[in-house]
Amino acid sequence: MPTNQPELIIKAMEIYNRLLDRFGLPEWRDPLPAVDELVSTILSQNTNDRNRDIAFNALRAQFPTWEAVRDAHPQQVIDLIRPAGLGNQKGPRIQTVLRQITAERGELNLDFLKEYNAADAQAWLTRFKGVGPKTASIVLQFSLGIPAFPVDTHIYRVSGRLGLRPAALDANQAHPHLAALFPPETYGPGHLNLIRLGREICHARKPDCPACPLTDLCDYFQLNGT
Ligand code: SF4
Repeated sequence: MPTNQPELIIKAMEIYNRLLDRFGLPEWRDPLPAVDELVSTILSQNTNDRNRDIAFNALRAQFPTWEAVRDAHPQQVIDLIRPAGLGNQKGPRIQTVLRQITAERGELNLDFLKEYNAADAQAWLTRFKGVGPKTASIVLQFSLGIPAFPVDTHIYRVSGRLGLRPAALDANQAHPHLAALFPPETYGPGHLNLIRLGREICHARKPDCPACPLTDLCDYFQLNGT
């Protein structure tokens, strides 16, 4: 059970390499423009990819631009995104973020963040209500090519069981902690393969440890043996 940062970094790389051996090098879908990714990721909160995509595509089919979404009647947006759940919350949040970006930048475009370092870009995005570290990190890593390590519910759970993070860290605190363990060039594949591990093997209710390639590295398995 590693107790210091250098040991944790070595453990993180071993986990990364084992998951590459098991799952291969994963690919993110074609990158979306950053504003699209931001809206898509807000829609994805507390739902699955399929429902997120239904809601996102409904918005895109109804409105030709994000400016039109921004200026639409709020109830129309809420109704269109209802398949993603929490429409009454997500709809106003999306429109508010679109209005705030427009007010600050004069247009709906986030490409200027490519000129920022990773920490400043993260700080800029997370000022907006409804844009937490996970949402910001997805936009940065997968749309803008700025290194960031998104921690979703699967990665939070799996990293706790593996002992990659202290149990007391909440999901927001886990972002900088895990980002410091992995080299930035591994963030994308590492994020995706840890999610796959969580979805297919390290289930929330009952992890399928016999099928897992990480048993000898896992604190949970060492303690529980199953
Ligand atoms: S050994 Fe079990 S608890 Fe540990 S990561 Fe694998 S499936 Fe999860």
